[in-house]
Amino acid sequence: MVSRVIPVDLFDLVIFGGTGDLARRKILPGLYRRFLDGQIPEDSRIIAAARSEMDDAGYRDMIREAIVEFVSKDKQDKTCIEKFLSRLAYVQVDATGTDGWDELAEKMRDGVVRAFYFSVGPSLFGAIAERLHAYHIADEDSRIVVEKPFGHDLATARALNQTLAEHFDETQIYRIDHYLGKETVQNLMAVRFANMLFEPLWNARNIDHIQITVAETVGVGGRGGYYDKSGAMRDMVQNHLMQLLCLIAMEPPYAFEPDAVRDEKLKVIRALDPVEPDDIVRGQYGAGEGGTSYLDDVENRDSRTESYIAMKLHVANWRWKGTPFYLRTGKRLRARTSEIAIVFKDPPHSIFGDQETHKSNVLVIRLQPNEGMNLKVTIKEPGPGGMRLVEVPLDMSFKEALGPDAEDIPDAYERLIMDVIRGNQTLFMRGDEIEASWAWTDPIIEGWEARGDRPVSYDPGSSGPEDALMLMHKDGRRWREVKV
Ligand code: NAP
Repeated sequence: MVSRVIPVDLFDLVIFGGTGDLARRKILPGLYRRFLDGQIPEDSRIIAAARSEMDDAGYRDMIREAIVEFVSKDKQDKTCIEKFLSRLAYVQVDATGTDGWDELAEKMRDGVVRAFYFSVGPSLFGAIAERLHAYHIADEDSRIVVEKPFGHDLATARALNQTLAEHFDETQIYRIDHYLGKETVQNLMAVRFANMLFEPLWNARNIDHIQITVAETVGVGGRGGYYDKSGAMRDMVQNHLMQLLCLIAMEPPYAFEPDAVRDEKLKVIRALDPVEPDDIVRGQYGAGEGGTSYLDDVENRDSRTESYIAMKLHVANWRWKGTPFYLRTGKRLRARTSEIAIVFKDPPHSIFGDQETHKSNVLVIRLQPNEGMNLKVTIKEPGPGGMRLVEVPLDMSFKEALGPDAEDIPDAYERLIMDVIRGNQTLFMRGDEIEASWAWTDPIIEGWEARGDRPVSYDPGSSGPEDALMLMHKDGRRWREVKV
């Protein structure tokens, strides 16, 4: 197979929080896979920074274990692993103090791309940005990568934007939303804007409604403390689901370029109508299916935080007037599924009499599992018996359709890190996008708090609260089944 890997420039990548969960589970295994593909130039270096006492050898041991645990067995080549590990270094740095910063400064080289990944809690973002500047570690070409959560509300997001702006230009700031790095999410743009087939139909005249589902089977796990202060609205809707909605609803950008795409996404967020309380259902999972309840998991019997949310949104512009967007996401549901379903309207008139012909076309874009697309169309059932209609899927699994090229779909993190090194911000969120999203989210959450709303309970292993079914039923629609 011809390699399609585009090499990147020589770089020094510093990972603050290099000993943490995200670094061990996603960032370093992802970098190893890029290394295997030959995308990481000779002499590029990855420098981990954290407070733990450790030397280079100790850090390499830690990442060797992480690769064994988190990289598929067929990619674990001993020689390659050792070669990759030889690129790693460790510096003991205290983000909020003075320890380690001079040593880190000495390690940085001139003439290479300098990138700094803030894989630490958000309370440290400001301190790190400030010190990168004070110790002359970052220059005007350096890039910083900022993890979620980006703020807790509009005020904190704005404050964080201002802090980062004191030391870095917007063109240097890469706010990561790993959903944007997923293959299928980018494919959504290809489907819309590289085909003549869909875009003419992509509006309220032809589309009845849109469903966006991100369902997880896991509960809050060890993140209970963090999650209970956040909830599904802040943790998932404000960022990930909002980004998916933007890519579906946006106007065609003039080019696949950072600000062209981000300008169009911003317009969508600004066009969102406020949501009526009746158009939102919040849930908390109960105990069962071998697991404890949400309230036990977060150790807070009075918690009013939602582990599930379903809502109906309207994008108030010419294209979407009258076509609702239904969003739902939650934990401890029946299956781990992420998908976008574009449900088309029925044909205006059936020429086939009163047999059930009104099955609408549905275009489903699957993010997980098994990334791919599915278009439901109605055809004649083969064989005798007259004109009997049947609905069939035109199903395309990327892995099956594209063969070996799709076997190795890079993980979202690895793709996004390489974009940082290339200096391509298209798949990263701009500061004003995030602020607009919080400006829409804040009044909704304030409304719950003012009214003292409590989430309803739902059974673990189900597809969510009954009330969420009603949200659709009252409009004469239904959710697609969350399939195992
Ligand atoms: P974590 O496991 O708690 O790791 C935190 C890292 O920060 C550790 O390496 C820790 O190392 C370092 N650290 C803490 N205080 C420090 C200080 N004062 N100076 C220098 N280093 C310090 O957290 P995580 O799960 O990796 O998450 C990191 C960030 O990614 C968070 O913002 C999180 O919200 C975000 N995120 C994580 C995930 C995920 O799946 N884990 C997913 C999406 C987003 P020492 O203790 O050795 O200093």
